[in-house]
Amino acid sequence: MARHNFLFFITILEVWTLIYLDNSSTTKVCKPSIDASVACMSQHFGNPSSLHKMGLDAENIVTEAKKTLAKALGCDASNILFTSGATESNNTAVLGGIAANWRNGERIVTSGQEHASVVEPLEHLRGQGYEIISVHPREDGHFSADDFIDAVDENTVMVCCMFVNNETGAILPVSQIIKGVRKKNKKTLIHIDAVQGFGKLPLKISTVDADFISMSGHKIYAPKGIGALYIKKGTKFKPLLFGGGQQLGQRVGTESVPLIAGFSAAVSMCMENMSRYTAHYAELYEYLKSKLLEIPDVSINSPDDGVKYILNLSVKGIRSEIMLHFLEQEEIYVSSGSACSKGARSHVLSSLGLSEQRIDTAIRISFCYETTQNDLDVFVARLKQGIDSLIKTK
Ligand code: PMP
Repeated sequence: MARHNFLFFITILEVWTLIYLDNSSTTKVCKPSIDASVACMSQHFGNPSSLHKMGLDAENIVTEAKKTLAKALGCDASNILFTSGATESNNTAVLGGIAANWRNGERIVTSGQEHASVVEPLEHLRGQGYEIISVHPREDGHFSADDFIDAVDENTVMVCCMFVNNETGAILPVSQIIKGVRKKNKKTLIHIDAVQGFGKLPLKISTVDADFISMSGHKIYAPKGIGALYIKKGTKFKPLLFGGGQQLGQRVGTESVPLIAGFSAAVSMCMENMSRYTAHYAELYEYLKSKLLEIPDVSINSPDDGVKYILNLSVKGIRSEIMLHFLEQEEIYVSSGSACSKGARSHVLSSLGLSEQRIDTAIRISFCYETTQNDLDVFVARLKQGIDSLIKTK
């Protein structure tokens, strides 16, 4: 075999044997998304702000993409803003929302399980004198909408609550929270970080009538560097950036048409296949859980009624990173808690009241539509080997 053929064969083999179970960190870009992005880079490469035909062509792609996202959420295309990702969407909602509505109060109510891209802007606001109230799960590990509603008073300017937790897969009662908060204080802004649910679970404005909803492309098979923010009609916010007036000045900078097209294609794929993927995840989840429960040293940290594409487990006595690197040797990729909080003890698992040893040994498995039962068999077999061979810590 010629050397280049041999190398090609090895590469294909590697791709085939790779078991990627870290889809809540990021996903492999799907074929429709790649095709749409490439077409924009090679053919529809005009600037959407240009007045000529090529500019119009690019502008149409952006307009159509906004319609696709709007259809997914059940809103109008004018409610959708493209951003560089959910980190920017979250920062825009929190900082931009407060900057335009500071007169409405100094209290902000949030879940104690938010992503760093919500926590850090809130910490920044705390430094400016805002009172940040964190709501924690109850003893059974579930959030109660009442706890959020009770924390809202006439001085509450914003409520920030995620839809699906990125570490455990817990679903937060956002719909009930929104209804209750709206009744209690009409002026309170509501921001939902929907990154881990959008495109995977039904999420419609008719039931989740928030002021801001953050979404990210790379969690649902689009490239990295693209996200979106839903903004309710009439909700005021101050943009973070100043410049050329694109997207009605709400988020300036030349639109990344290839990424926007790729995001739109991925959203279409997810929406068309949602029920099929959901059924697939449910099967995989039950299968994996039953296999894991057979292993004495394993405990499950995810709630029973969470999403079926995220499973958080702890392996008694083996630190997360040790197990992660052990699995990696076999091309099995998992996450230790949240990939976004490398090194720090998970505030999400801490808020569930889990012991330090259980938190430090947590591993997150997350599926994509391509995950197979065979992938899980290989993962479980290797996990058992790890448990038998790795040196246990106390
Ligand atoms: N929110 C949540 C819940 C997330 O899981 C992530 C990604 N880890 C983000 C926000 C940030 O998204 P992005 O990577 O698009 O900035």
